[in-house]
Amino acid sequence: MYETLWAIISWQLKIFRPFERIDPGLQQKSDIYKSAIRHKHLMHTELTLLAKKMDGVLYYDQSPEHHTQLLAYSTDASVYQEKPLAVAIPQNVSDIKQLIDFARQQKATLVPRAAGTSLAGQVVSDGIVADISKHFNKIIEVNVAEKWVRVQPGVIRDDLNNYLRAYGLMFGPETSTANRAMIGGMVGNNSCGLHSIVWGAVRENLLEVNAVLSDGSEVVFKNEPVDGNDHTGLKKEIYKGLYNLLSDENNQQLIKQHFPKESVVRRNSGYALDSLLKMQPFSSKGESFNICKLIAGSEGTLAFITEIKLQLINQPPEKTALVCIHCNSIDEALRANIVALKHNPMASELVDRYIMNFTRAHPEYHKNCFFIEGDPAAILMVEFMAHTNGDVNLLAQQLVNELQEKGYGYAFPVLLNGDTKYAWDVRKAGLGLLRNLPGDIQPVNLIEDCAVSPEELPEYVIDLQRVLDKYKVNASYYAHAGAGELHVEPMINLKTPEGVKLFRTILAETVELVKKYKGSLSGEHGDGRLRGEYISTVVGNETYQLFKEVKKLFDPHNIFNKGKITDTPPMDGHLRVSVGKQPGPLKTSFDFSGQGSMLRLAEKCSGSGDCRRSEISGGTMCPSYMATRNEKDTTRARANILRQFLSNPEDVDPLNHQEIKEVMDLCLSCKGCKTECPSGVDITKMKAEFLQQYYDKNGIPFRAKLIGNFSSQMKLASLVPWGYNLVFGNSMLRKLVNQVVGFHPDRTMPLLASTTLAKWFKRRMKNDIDTGKKVHFFCDEFTNYYDVEIGKKAILLLEVLGYEVIIPDHEESGRTYLSKGMVKKAARIANQNIRLLSDIVTEEIPIVGVEPSTILTLRDEYIDLAETSNKEKARELASHTFTIEEFFSNEAGKGHISKEMFTKVKRTIAVHGHCYQKVLSSQHHSNIMLSMPENYQVQFIPSGCCGMAGAFGYETEHYEVSQQVGELVLFPAVRSFADDVIIAASGTSCRHQIKDGTHKIALHPVEILWDALAG
Ligand SMILES: Cc1cc2nc3c(=O)[nH]c(=O)nc-3n(C[C@H](O)[C@H](O)[C@H](O)COP(=O)(O)OP(=O)(O)OC[C@H]3O[C@@H](n4cnc5c(N)ncnc54)[C@H](O)[C@@H]3O)c2cc1C
Ligand code: SF4
Ligand code: SF4
Repeated sequence: MYETLWAIISWQLKIFRPFERIDPGLQQKSDIYKSAIRHKHLMHTELTLLAKKMDGVLYYDQSPEHHTQLLAYSTDASVYQEKPLAVAIPQNVSDIKQLIDFARQQKATLVPRAAGTSLAGQVVSDGIVADISKHFNKIIEVNVAEKWVRVQPGVIRDDLNNYLRAYGLMFGPETSTANRAMIGGMVGNNSCGLHSIVWGAVRENLLEVNAVLSDGSEVVFKNEPVDGNDHTGLKKEIYKGLYNLLSDENNQQLIKQHFPKESVVRRNSGYALDSLLKMQPFSSKGESFNICKLIAGSEGTLAFITEIKLQLINQPPEKTALVCIHCNSIDEALRANIVALKHNPMASELVDRYIMNFTRAHPEYHKNCFFIEGDPAAILMVEFMAHTNGDVNLLAQQLVNELQEKGYGYAFPVLLNGDTKYAWDVRKAGLGLLRNLPGDIQPVNLIEDCAVSPEELPEYVIDLQRVLDKYKVNASYYAHAGAGELHVEPMINLKTPEGVKLFRTILAETVELVKKYKGSLSGEHGDGRLRGEYISTVVGNETYQLFKEVKKLFDPHNIFNKGKITDTPPMDGHLRVSVGKQPGPLKTSFDFSGQGSMLRLAEKCSGSGDCRRSEISGGTMCPSYMATRNEKDTTRARANILRQFLSNPEDVDPLNHQEIKEVMDLCLSCKGCKTECPSGVDITKMKAEFLQQYYDKNGIPFRAKLIGNFSSQMKLASLVPWGYNLVFGNSMLRKLVNQVVGFHPDRTMPLLASTTLAKWFKRRMKNDIDTGKKVHFFCDEFTNYYDVEIGKKAILLLEVLGYEVIIPDHEESGRTYLSKGMVKKAARIANQNIRLLSDIVTEEIPIVGVEPSTILTLRDEYIDLAETSNKEKARELASHTFTIEEFFSNEAGKGHISKEMFTKVKRTIAVHGHCYQKVLSSQHHSNIMLSMPENYQVQFIPSGCCGMAGAFGYETEHYEVSQQVGELVLFPAVRSFADDVIIAASGTSCRHQIKDGTHKIALHPVEILWDALAG
């Protein structure tokens, strides 16, 4: 009986204490689990304490705000993904020291991160990712006489050179990512690029580094004897250790034997012990010892850099010639490369057919392909520079002559000066553009960075192609032929176990080739977690042990970027795509079939970081990042977070997440990414789709409804426009109402016209026009209620040109619903408009509109919102839809408008283009339209988004960012113009933003042209 009772008691105990099992294995696991929970809890407490000690910010908990940051920092430009323990945005060196102390005490790893464009997973980690891009971005000192600059690590390379231009100096090493990659990251990866054969890599241009070591001490590394006596603390230990290591003859032998052969110029794998050996005292004729050579390329594993002193060079000669050698095979191009190198070019780069085909198919980049003749298998681009056109042409011609003599190449167009940019853009956009390949078989970074001697490149590529052929894998080949390094991107489906196996096999077999040619596993991108596992195979275990010794000398507690260069985990773990089971189809309001699916569109983001450009580099993408400089506000973060949720096969509601809302919050839906992102990651479309699905589950907020229903409210208000204007024309009342609806009190509201455009049009005395020329006018909701005068002038101008203007029966555009994510409602309107307009809008009688955001909706979103039966009609309608600028520019092209119709007065017009015009049309049309009066000088303000973006700039929580976006370029430019400069802006929001931000009035091009009519 006691036994029975005991059995019952034990059974009860097991239920309530599930971890206490008899099985010792399970018992052990449960202990680990309990300790993990305890550890997590402790860690949370410790992290909270750390956050309090820091002047900067630390994200670490599971709140949507923090978790969004953790997800956004889970990737870089590699195939890897791992959620960090925390994300730190250190504000000063003291914060960095706090982070190092924490990492030491808690046995966490600390990853210094700059722009996060590393291709091998260097900044992907489960530790603390410390982003220095926000607060460490100052240029500290330039010394023109001695040609050096001192910077903080978060300075963008192109921004630095932009600054140095005034001094006639520049920092040589560049990357294709130079408009966002930062000097700290370039040092970490020892970056170099197009011109490395002349300007070298960072290692050759690095003079000094200020850093915090793993014990928290601040040090300066520079030219100084390794065996000097004045070093102290950990620095002393490091120098002593290195001296002993490098003085050992056996070690010297290992390094000489196992590092790449001397003719391999790109050598970026492991720690650069070979460079140290070439210096004094190890090489009597060498330069004086400078440990910076080792820091370059150390991938954040040795020290946390806080300042960098760089060697500068003079600006290169201005005249440039680019010989574009068209070849029938890659082999032919690589043999031409050997010939080209004898002519001492500045660069020699390869582009293969894959890249060219993608470029030709891209809406933005195809314009750059004008120089391509026929269908070359590869083009070798060889660049020369000189002081005169004559000299540079001569250099180009000498090369062409020798190539023709040797029978390499079939066409040799030579681009000069400004035109060379187009060809380089084709080459540079390559990696991003390759992501436009449809389907799951995608080009992967894997063996893209292996380098050999340029003379052996043809043979190496033949061998490599054999490996790829064996596994029936296609690949693209491009980039630095002149430096012996081709970016070879095999096309693999990483979503399948077979693909993952191939991923490893191809690297493993390429490693054998690298050994065969005594090349380098990495030439410029670094080893990261992609190639790190194979370093020991390439250099041998004994040499690899030297790397481990180096790591131990600097970082005995393994604080800095654990698992990179030494002790790297398996290269096929923590991939960003889920392997095996894939999520089922997602029902969406937008049609994503053109992109495969919404997930596929999000997956297209390669992480290249083009969306992290600053306003100095220009462009529209990405205004929110340009304003806040937060990774979370990049297009990349938005795509990454969407991808992480959409790819979870277990999640039945993948868009119902606060984190997505958080990351989308500052997206202005400007569409910049639709064309400026090389992968065409269209966040505007995905944000609208997300909002619709989020609202489906959580309800539509009051303010979103209010904005969406703009037309119906204005219809009512326009019955008593004076009443509406009384409220919004009075600043006290307006502030009050603004606050009630959630608009910022300082934001003024547009006032209503006394009548609507539609009413005016119906009631007016019509001109008798009988030219047989007709045009439809899209009476959009903003022009109808607010900008009636612009609408009138547009109609009258069209009539002056001899057009009979028809306002057809149509609905509002649906823009306000789209901007607030009410896609279903917008879809109903779009389909109704397609039905109403598609039969009457034809090639002969097209439709024009003055407000870019609405008229271009007919051309863009309507196609993706059309029901199947309306699809073809929507496409047809789109092809006959024009902005007023396009229409006038076409008319001018046909000779229908004469300059005689306009004034001869001299005026300067400064144009701010609407984002949608830049993305879906071209500023060229505004130029033609506004240049019709013969003495009108048109200049374009190099602004991106104005910051208003529909209702975004009105909303209380977005007002500040809206102003910041305006202040980037647009406001200062507008303020700088003399009073007689006419400011032109087609968008109603843009004009409003200019008025609120600068108190200057911008006019619609239609108004400017109307005022310019002669007589
Ligand atoms: C499309 C594309 C094209 C590319 N083309 C080139 C090219 O032509 N040439 C080339 O060399 N590379 C190229 N890269 C790779 C990459 O852009 C470069 O390596 C770049 O220099 C990295 O800079 P980042 O600011 O993004 O650094 P991150 O990726 O943030 O960091 C790079 C490394 O530096 C370390 N680091 C950063 N800051 C510090 C610090 N303060 N202290 C210590 N360590 C630090 C990091 O830990 C990391 O290991 C390309 C990448 C992409 C996506
Ligand atoms: S969103 Fe586009 S530009 Fe930004 S990182 Fe991704 S691919 Fe590059
Ligand atoms: S739509 Fe504009 S703001 Fe939004 S992600 Fe794209 S570029 Fe950035």
